[in-house]
Amino acid sequence: MTSSFSNLMLAEPLARAVAEMGYETMTPIQAQAIPVVLSGQDVMGAAQTGTGKTAAFSLPLLQRMLKHENASTSPARHPVRALVLLPTRELADQVAQQIKLYAKYTNLRSTVVFGGIDMKPQTLELKKGVEVLVATPGRLLDHIEAKNAVLNQVEYVVLDEADRMLDIGFLPDLQRILSYLPKQRTTLLFSATFSPEIKRLAGSYLQNPVTIEVARPNETASTVEQHFYSVADDDKRRALRQIVRQRGITQAFVFVNSKLGCARLARSLERDGLRTSALHGDKSQDERLKSLAAFKAGEVDLLVCTDVAARGLDIKDVPAVFNFDIPFNAEDYVHRIGRTGRAGASGLAVSFASGGNDARLVADIEKLIKKKIELEPVEFEEDRPRGRINDGRRHWREEGEAGDARDVLDQPRERRDADARRGSGGRPHRAPAAPRDPFFDKPYEPGQPDATPAWEAAAKATTPGRGISSNIKSKRKVAALFKSAEPS
Ligand code: AMP
Repeated sequence: MTSSFSNLMLAEPLARAVAEMGYETMTPIQAQAIPVVLSGQDVMGAAQTGTGKTAAFSLPLLQRMLKHENASTSPARHPVRALVLLPTRELADQVAQQIKLYAKYTNLRSTVVFGGIDMKPQTLELKKGVEVLVATPGRLLDHIEAKNAVLNQVEYVVLDEADRMLDIGFLPDLQRILSYLPKQRTTLLFSATFSPEIKRLAGSYLQNPVTIEVARPNETASTVEQHFYSVADDDKRRALRQIVRQRGITQAFVFVNSKLGCARLARSLERDGLRTSALHGDKSQDERLKSLAAFKAGEVDLLVCTDVAARGLDIKDVPAVFNFDIPFNAEDYVHRIGRTGRAGASGLAVSFASGGNDARLVADIEKLIKKKIELEPVEFEEDRPRGRINDGRRHWREEGEAGDARDVLDQPRERRDADARRGSGGRPHRAPAAPRDPFFDKPYEPGQPDATPAWEAAAKATTPGRGISSNIKSKRKVAALFKSAEPS
């Protein structure tokens, strides 16, 4: 099978856009899926984000739609021909941006609709007419009900991250949306796993699909160095700072299991002097997108987030992922650490287990990834606390503490990267004991303007999908999750 885009015979405007993106060879999912989609067959693809699956479905879909391309200003000449459904707004926004780039030299129009923001601008776009509509299910149904979106000319439908859509309870919405589509169409379904539910969904809505699996869904990339540390809850922050410093880590995702944990941890890491943002529930969509942009631009070093907030985000080359909490679902471990070690780059995944339920969760991960997990102790560089200083804000910290982790992160990026490549352990450091901040004794108060620091950009978090823990809540719609349903 060829892996060069030039052998694909893509139409010139698409080939030009691809060349401009700097793509030369196809990724495995692209090499397998593009010819199949071009031939008009249904596809059931097991591929995670980061594998290039957006281009794998978008490019052939756009190529097949070029026959409808026209420059007319009449909305009637631009009915929705392709529908891409995704579970979260961030993911929808990201996929829509990519499709716009691939279609930029064509007259094909695309737009995205998702909840949490005003419907009016979306309505205006829809009324002008678009060939490609990217959407989250709940908001799409709102537009269908308002008669802003008519789907009776759809030829292609893509169900992306289908497993997550089912996990968060979108099945009824999907069934309704699919009932509005013509029977004659091409359907593509992408999922990280082929669970019995996914197979049932495929059985109902796909016709003789070609199955494409590029990597076993439970595999973790061999380029990711994985460590599990046994560390008490109170020491986790300190352990994180030490590892960041010792490894010269320039940027990292820090995963937690709850919205409350997310807000609090981001707040304390920020106070430790690390440039930190939180992706969780109580902020506007706009703030959440800004937070992501800041992380992508390197203006933020640590992105503390929950699983739904981070799922599928196209943020590449993150040198490290921390599991500050062991995920409730072993599959989320695979998704989380898939943020690092992409495209052959080496990555580091560090998980903190603190006893209690964690032993069982670690055992679940071990079973899923089929690798023996050794719990390592954290050896703190020095346990002796030093004098305490008031940092002029509203809490006490140990002398020298705020500066230490930041010292690494404040260095020019090239230098930090070079240090990391050399395996520099950083300069000797005297780690203090973690300070106690009265903030942490207060009950959580979501949505209070003065309780929310400016850096706390937010997205929505998830309830984990399967009932392996009493902490796991029942399945809910994303719309509900985005109100106040995150675990807290
Ligand atoms: P995805 O899995 O679709 O989220 O894609 C992950 C990232 O890989 C995106 O930033 C794409 O722009 C990039 N990408 C997709 N296909 C290729 C390719 N053939 N060569 C290089 N980068 C690619």
